Amino acid sequence: MIIVLKPNATQEQAQEILNKIEAAGLKPLYMPGVERIVLGALGDERILQKLHLDGFPCVETVKPILTKYKMVSREVQAHDTVVRFGNASIGGDKFAVIAGPCSVESEQQLLSVAEVVKQHGAVALRGGAYKPRTSPYDFQGMGVEGLKLLKLANERLNLPTVSEVMEVGQMDDICQYVDCLQIGARNMQNYALLKAVGESGKPVLLKRGLSATIEELLLAAEYIYDAGNPNIVLCERGIRTFETATRNTLDLNAVAYLKQRSHLPVVVDPSHGTGVRELVIPLSRAAVAVGADGIIVESHLNPAEALSDGHQALTGGMFEQLMQEIKPFVEAAGRTL
Ligand code: PEP
Ligand code: MN
Repeated sequence: MIIVLKPNATQEQAQEILNKIEAAGLKPLYMPGVERIVLGALGDERILQKLHLDGFPCVETVKPILTKYKMVSREVQAHDTVVRFGNASIGGDKFAVIAGPCSVESEQQLLSVAEVVKQHGAVALRGGAYKPRTSPYDFQGMGVEGLKLLKLANERLNLPTVSEVMEVGQMDDICQYVDCLQIGARNMQNYALLKAVGESGKPVLLKRGLSATIEELLLAAEYIYDAGNPNIVLCERGIRTFETATRNTLDLNAVAYLKQRSHLPVVVDPSHGTGVRELVIPLSRAAVAVGADGIIVESHLNPAEALSDGHQALTGGMFEQLMQEIKPFVEAAGRTL
């Protein structure tokens, strides 16, 4: 429920209503605006109705939040959220490019590609240390040693890092070494993990599940927000459809829809979205044009030797080309790189 107070309502009157909401066992929200105070109440709608908040003299209107997701909705917060980690910011005037290998494989592999992507304008380095692989016989990631290499790259190059956490038991280590926690597509509905990253307070990059609806993605984000963490970046990374020519179908509808319905920043992953190196640049241009706040792309200086996802990794030269090709689109969108 959104409770809009009259322009002359006082702080004390607002507090009185917030107390009433809390006493009823609901979650109160305080959202002071420029012209008037707006309050929110989250919880069982039946209890909310019994409070008869519209009867208070300082209340102008009471309107229900029509969506299942609340805190991540534009109805609750009209302005865009900007998520910051290290010197990277996602969701503001800048279009953010996050790049790096699918997996951290060695010091040399990580540092060399990190240097190249930084040189051409990436604002954060990605790299998996815990890898969710379809086959148990495939490379499963370097684990803590990989996290340490991410920290090393961060210190050498002053590039903040993004890496996937797959289990609650990995939280302590990953929080020690990494700046932004990625929730992978396969874990989008792992609610224990969503609560854990919510409680950690670290910025989270939340990937859409392989067959998750947009509403399910937003409700997953709501779990993180509800656990106390508003620093969430949504990521469209392609969904399963009948199409088999590409690894997934990159749902750019979702990007435009998410930007309308949620205040959270949205990034696109054209690497997993297509699974084809040659399609990453065109879909990156499309991501900028549709209004995404950034992209996260895989890059490897020797993709033929990559231990995971080499087929979709951009070479150093292709990454440079990507940055050149998105530039006019970024400018047309009124942003900078
Ligand atoms: C990844 O980023 O390497 C990854 C495994 O992504 P997703 O969870 O989107 O498949
Ligand atoms: Mn990958």
